[in-house]
Amino acid sequence: MSKAFDLAGRVAIVTGGNGGIGLGMATGLAQAGAALLIAGRNAAKNAAAVQALAALGAQAAAFEADVSVQAECRALIEAALAKFGRLDILVNNAGTNIRKQPQDYTLDEWKSVLDTNLTSAFLCSQAAYPALQKAGGGKIINIGSMLSIFGAAFAGPYGASKGGMVQLTKSLACAWAKDNIQVNAVLPGWIDTELTRGARRDLPGLHERVLARTPAGRWGDPADFAGIAVFLAGSAADFVTGAAIPVDGGYSTQG
Ligand code: NDP
Repeated sequence: MSKAFDLAGRVAIVTGGNGGIGLGMATGLAQAGAALLIAGRNAAKNAAAVQALAALGAQAAAFEADVSVQAECRALIEAALAKFGRLDILVNNAGTNIRKQPQDYTLDEWKSVLDTNLTSAFLCSQAAYPALQKAGGGKIINIGSMLSIFGAAFAGPYGASKGGMVQLTKSLACAWAKDNIQVNAVLPGWIDTELTRGARRDLPGLHERVLARTPAGRWGDPADFAGIAVFLAGSAADFVTGAAIPVDGGYSTQG
């Protein structure tokens, strides 16, 4: 394998890495040689993901954490350093949605979506910064959404969090370029995961609308995220920073 995509000796954290897009990315990173610490709240899902990653021959461990809580973000970074001795790659992927019309959200609901999707990325990045600096550089990959670009009536807080994720990505990229830390965002189209199974159930006609608008003619699969994760985490992307890259089967190119 070209060195540009070789992650042997690198250590990665993937928040929300116990399923869906996060596990798709963790799988790619593991296949490229990285050691993985995945973070999620659900111990059973964490254990199953560690088993799947270990079956690929990767060094893998899980840490039970709620990344909307600052102390748990800090503990997550400490856990990676304790387990693997260094940190090179942070994937801020954990996310959630509450689907309602804007007038119907409570303040607690707004805060829980913003804290889980956006504040968590800020807190984990901030906590990871000294370790990435110490490693001589590193990579942060933030997961946005098509709702980083477009609006949706049912997703006010989610869209605000995902729009914010792109702007946070740009600011971190500017601030930490001097430390050889590259920070990029990935904007998934509609991907078949636990999160969107709920949306398909709640939003009649969504499945057909996604198929009609996606030039690739299908929903994405978590495995579609392995390649972009490896690219952005490796030296191949050393001159790529502050970018927001759609992985969407063409969804965002079609009006
Ligand atoms: P899943 O529901 O399959 O995965 C969400 C992950 O986030 C789970 O691993 C979950 O683990 C974790 N998570 C949620 N809340 C927390 C928390 N407070 N602390 C720690 N971990 C948490 O969804 P997806 O794979 O679809 O979503 C992954 C990311 O991709 C999200 O940011 C989502 O917004 C984004 N995305 C998804 C799209 C799609 O079509 N699926 C489209 C665009 C963006 P646990 O429950 O164990 O905590």
